[in-house]
Amino acid sequence: GHGNEYILVAERIVKRFGGLVAVDNATVKIRRKTITLLIGPNGSGKTTLLNVIAGYYRPDGGRVVFEGRDVTGLPPHRLYHLGMARTFQVPQPFPKLTVLENVLLAAKRHPGESFTAPLARGKWLPVEEELVDKAFSILRLVGLDHLWDHPAGQLSGGQMKLLEIARTLMSGAKLVLMDEPIAGVNPTLAHRILDFIVRLRDQGITFFIIEHRLDIAMKYVDYAYAMARGRVIAEGRPEEVVSNPLVIDSYLGG
Ligand code: ADP
Repeated sequence: GHGNEYILVAERIVKRFGGLVAVDNATVKIRRKTITLLIGPNGSGKTTLLNVIAGYYRPDGGRVVFEGRDVTGLPPHRLYHLGMARTFQVPQPFPKLTVLENVLLAAKRHPGESFTAPLARGKWLPVEEELVDKAFSILRLVGLDHLWDHPAGQLSGGQMKLLEIARTLMSGAKLVLMDEPIAGVNPTLAHRILDFIVRLRDQGITFFIIEHRLDIAMKYVDYAYAMARGRVIAEGRPEEVVSNPLVIDSYLGG
């Protein structure tokens, strides 16, 4: 039905830092199996809104509904278990562990279960074998399978971003929140990352993405929201939003 159309609804979100209203009554609705973009000039409240949605900040007003359930104020690890995962602007895998180990570490585990247990045991249990299979198929998808036994610390910046996406997928996330997935990577790799995100969307994963490189990102995106001074000032098809005079003014006005 209609209520099922959105995987996430963040309604009238308010977040203040002291006297500053960083997010001011912002509402965003994310349709299932879409790539939704969040744009706006620096300081417009994008990261803060993402942090409220992902549970890093408790909002001063409004509510967050994920999969039809009010999750306002739940901490990130609870949301992670419900299927919402956030990648970070600066990917921070464990540099001395291999690419494969880093992906495996991102899998949801039962409390008390140690990742190093199979290393101590000297063998993988069947459930762990399943996880390894899954990790390899994700690594193939992002094109890092040939580097599976390399220390993550040896990857390039772009490969680190792919690894971060792989780790997020390993968590089984249904909704992935991303901060600038293509910032600082060359155009070829940027297109590869976005192609990859499109393929995952087609497999049923929903993305909510902050990205500044609109020239590259636009054609991959289904829907866009624009923020300025903490408010949502436009939403719609990406090409409509970026050509909206209010949005253009917000970038020029600073
Ligand atoms: P954007 O991601 O669009 O660049 P942010 O959400 O980072 O914007 O910031 C929105 C406003 O909130 C800015 O004025 C910023 O300085 C302020 N802000 C963000 N995080 C904090 C914080 N932890 N403490 C105080 N002010 C913050």
